[in-house]
Amino acid sequence: MTEILSTNKTRSLKRELDALVSTFDASFLSTDPLHFVHGYKRDRDREIAGLIASCLAYGRVDGIKKSVGRVLGAMGKSPYEFTLNFNPAEGLRLFDGFVHRFSGPKEITCLIYFVKQMIMANGSIGGFFMKGFVAGDESIKAALSAFSENALSLDSFPVYGAKKLPKKAGVRFFFPNPNDKSACKRLNLYLRWMVRRGDSLDFGIWKKVNPAQLVIPLDTHIARISKNIGLTTLRSPGWSMAEEITSALRKLNPKDPVRYDFALCRLGILDRCPKKKDALKCEKCLIRKVCVL
Ligand code: SF4
Repeated sequence: MTEILSTNKTRSLKRELDALVSTFDASFLSTDPLHFVHGYKRDRDREIAGLIASCLAYGRVDGIKKSVGRVLGAMGKSPYEFTLNFNPAEGLRLFDGFVHRFSGPKEITCLIYFVKQMIMANGSIGGFFMKGFVAGDESIKAALSAFSENALSLDSFPVYGAKKLPKKAGVRFFFPNPNDKSACKRLNLYLRWMVRRGDSLDFGIWKKVNPAQLVIPLDTHIARISKNIGLTTLRSPGWSMAEEITSALRKLNPKDPVRYDFALCRLGILDRCPKKKDALKCEKCLIRKVCVL
């Protein structure tokens, strides 16, 4: 991959983005679906709540909060206990009427049923993920691809009524594959939550995965702001752009490139960085010194 940052640019970006990370810390958690996961004390509950919250992290913030709250509320105090005792037929009744854009009762039921099978076979979602993980890989791309493929080959008969998961089954949306050029934003977000450690945002539950291997959860905010500050030259969001931005961030922090994700994303979520240059907002912007817009 072409180096897009000069030494001087790297230095100034690091200074500005490190300051941004100090500003947008855990006190901003209520603006993020990660907030729900912090409501649980045990790792085994956080792992499941995290997958549910990240899978539904698409669309408007208010809608995400409502949908994640509805599903986790139905799962009770322990998503782990709920999942172990989960019966798909009952799940379809329990989540009847649930709608989060193009995800409905079948998608949520199948997702929880998949998680149940992951736990039964490998002890945890993390254990299931480790089946495709290679410690020496530069990034988690191959492991993420294996995770999605393995998940989508689990039994789905009680939900979709077919031996093989139908091509149009909505649950596939929760398990995209980097080999299809998808940025896999929501799964990379989930990985960030499970793998990163050392601050009060992410949980560091999956200790065998190195935070240096993570890839930025690329959404519209991260794509736009990354272009503004010269982290990417690519035009279309996708896995290649996520890799290019991550590679630039590795120059700033080789051990933990994705540490900038939460803070950068706040600029978009809190409307601090508008889609078009705005003199008032840009004047107050914490990273205006490195913005090339
Ligand atoms: S200076 Fe303006 S356009 Fe640039 S990152 Fe800041 S708010 Fe966004």
